[in-house]
Amino acid sequence: MSREQIIAGNWKMYKTTKEAVDFIENLKSKVGSSLASIYLAVPFTMISETAKAAEGTNIIIGAQNMNDATEGAFTGEIAGIMLKDAGAEFVLLGHSERRHIFKESNEFIQKKLERALKDDLQPILCIGETQEERDSEKTEEVLETQIKTALKNVSEKDMEKVVVAYEPVWAIGTGKTATPEIAEKAHAYIRKVLKELYGKTISDKISILYGGSVKPANIEALMNEKNIDGALIGGASLDPDTFAEVINKC
Ligand code: PEP
Repeated sequence: MSREQIIAGNWKMYKTTKEAVDFIENLKSKVGSSLASIYLAVPFTMISETAKAAEGTNIIIGAQNMNDATEGAFTGEIAGIMLKDAGAEFVLLGHSERRHIFKESNEFIQKKLERALKDDLQPILCIGETQEERDSEKTEEVLETQIKTALKNVSEKDMEKVVVAYEPVWAIGTGKTATPEIAEKAHAYIRKVLKELYGKTISDKISILYGGSVKPANIEALMNEKNIDGALIGGASLDPDTFAEVINKC
């Protein structure tokens, strides 16, 4: 079964607009022949300029978060339609930093995901267990709850647009990558839950990305696993040479 391969960068709260545009100009020249789709989740302020810089390339610009409302008195928040208006095509939802630092619940993430689909933004649903949950053998239970809650109202048709990113919290920004075997076991379980919800044909089409300290040295071994269809990358997506090296190894 061939699935879309996606290498997604998450820039978190880094870069100015000029640095971002320079990055894209540089990246363009290095990844033109890549077969993987290249996604970049950039800070809100640079969506518009980066989307223009990426026009006509295989680089797709998106956001790192959104609110579940379309508008309203929500100081400091941003709506999906605003992201779309600025040029975003996708949005990360449920990133572990949103879940753990900003205390976002599974229920809130579910509402945002429903809104993102209505606003024609492709959701990348991030899920993953903490070290403590893994140590107490709750990984599968945590993943299942995160998936089933977030996808509560997603139809079969809409599910074809959703991407899932498995990001064990203990591997994000720590330099501690899950071994390909650990990652594959979690990805196979995620696909099993998706199959239970949507059937084999749809679950076989959904791209499941791995995230957590991915770099040029470990991408190939991860991508060799059957259920790993790409990566969501934080630190190693900030430098165009390193990010291009990861992309070109896929
Ligand atoms: C992330 O922020 O989604 C991430 C996986 O970060 P890093 O690659 O730095 O671990």
